[in-house]
Amino acid sequence: MIIDTHIHLDDERYRDDLDEVLNRAREGGVKRFIIPGADASTLCRAIEIAEKYDDVYFAIGIHPYDINSFDEENFSLHVEHEKCVAIGECGLDYFRLEGSDEEKEEEKLKQKKIFVAQIELAKKYKKPLIVHIRDASRDSKQILLDNNAKEVGGVLHCYNADDELLSLANEGFYFGIGGVLTFKNAKKLVNILPHIPEDKLIIETDGPYLTPTPHRGQRNEPLYTTFVASKISELLEKPLKQIKETTTQNALKLFNIS
Ligand SMILES: [Zn+2]
Ligand SMILES: [Zn+2]
Repeated sequence: MIIDTHIHLDDERYRDDLDEVLNRAREGGVKRFIIPGADASTLCRAIEIAEKYDDVYFAIGIHPYDINSFDEENFSLHVEHEKCVAIGECGLDYFRLEGSDEEKEEEKLKQKKIFVAQIELAKKYKKPLIVHIRDASRDSKQILLDNNAKEVGGVLHCYNADDELLSLANEGFYFGIGGVLTFKNAKKLVNILPHIPEDKLIIETDGPYLTPTPHRGQRNEPLYTTFVASKISELLEKPLKQIKETTTQNALKLFNIS
């Protein structure tokens, strides 16, 4: 079995055929689904889906692109829902920063503030973090360490896998591996993979985005985690069955689900 630990099922692109998407995944062995929070507007849809399907869970969080919609009250309203398993995705993303240097610095400060606020909420409600990091490894790591995020741990769902973040494996952090691993230009992630402890590996799609080879260009969906699992197995030279079992056990443990 595989757990898709990061799948935006609340995205409009799944609205018309969600049942089919989930059934295809289940038939392919994907048995649990976690919808990360991104912005306040899709949270209701995520909760609705998690209430409808036993095997779907959700997280509450504000993506660094949507920090203006951060509302602590909205968190406290839903965080104790029985299907809410994490806080995030939250974190830092410097990839799309715009404007003058001054404006960029200001935006970074804002992102950091909202990231810290969400770490505090995770500790308050004892939920693991789903952390989004892009082009901001050093700052993200510093914030996680400074704010003692290891108290709750979490998953680093990151595009630039680099050495900087590896040591967080010793701080209770897991590494979400997705479709990027199958890309021809994924050298960094391919190189770092063997250095991630196996008991810290989990699998994700990040659908509808980042569709793995051979379906690049199409909408991503949870069934395609099977391509990610196969690629991990190939690169680590370990049986596919073992990879599926280990990553599943890791995800169940991290998100405290059965
Ligand atoms: Zn993300
Ligand atoms: Zn995402």
